[in-house]
Amino acid sequence: MITYENVNVSFGKFNVLSQVNFEIQPGDFLHIVGPNGSGKTTLVKLLVGLLKPTSGNITVTSHRMGYLPQKLNTKQNFPMTVREVIYSGFEKQKLIPSKEDCKKINDWLEKMEIPHLSKKSMQYLSGGQQQRVFLIRALISEPDLLILDEPTSALDPSFREKFYQLLYDLQQRKKTTIVHVTHDLTDAVKKDCRIMYVDQTIRFNGTYESFHEFEHRGHHHA
Ligand code: ADP
Ligand code: MG
Repeated sequence: MITYENVNVSFGKFNVLSQVNFEIQPGDFLHIVGPNGSGKTTLVKLLVGLLKPTSGNITVTSHRMGYLPQKLNTKQNFPMTVREVIYSGFEKQKLIPSKEDCKKINDWLEKMEIPHLSKKSMQYLSGGQQQRVFLIRALISEPDLLILDEPTSALDPSFREKFYQLLYDLQQRKKTTIVHVTHDLTDAVKKDCRIMYVDQTIRFNGTYESFHEFEHRGHHHA
């Protein structure tokens, strides 16, 4: 579904990613980890098409992508309502949302435990509440490829577990391919997932079990 071939990204003289090579198969659940500033966000921005590589090739064969950026557009003066933000996640919008779309929005608001916020303006929401809204926007079009850049950073711990369960359900039942950037694997990892450790290039790419060995050897400090 995704192929990176000899991908390099530099800003001026500064190399952010060099010689990145990997593949993602349909139905994979991939966690991307690595230190701050190691290029994780850059890596997924390439995937979404927000950034072009300085050199190399990227192939993505997804029909519908859902993306949650790391930096949310949550400045003051964000007059859109929760419903409007979520509606913008649909592939096609009409002047007035259809009954069916409204039901989908309401179901997701229930699932994410924020039905009472439906008509609120985004600017009055807490960081965690805003993050839930943007998550719904990423999920509502039922993407075959879901890209989440630190989606739980503002979520309370009690909700995180529920959220990851939801992701694993999507992967299991709908065969959604999931690329998940995180700095904390503890809640996120379940069986059959893959881990990629990025630090300017890919230092590790494999199963969670073998990632333990990699960490033990301390290779990422080398
Ligand atoms: P991570 O998500 O792993 O924390 P990023 O991909 O956001 O890392 O950033 C990697 C490095 O690239 C950082 O040093 C960051 O400052 C730099 N960087 C990211 N975007 C730009 C840009 N548009 N211009 C210049 N430098 C950038
Ligand atoms: Mg980042």
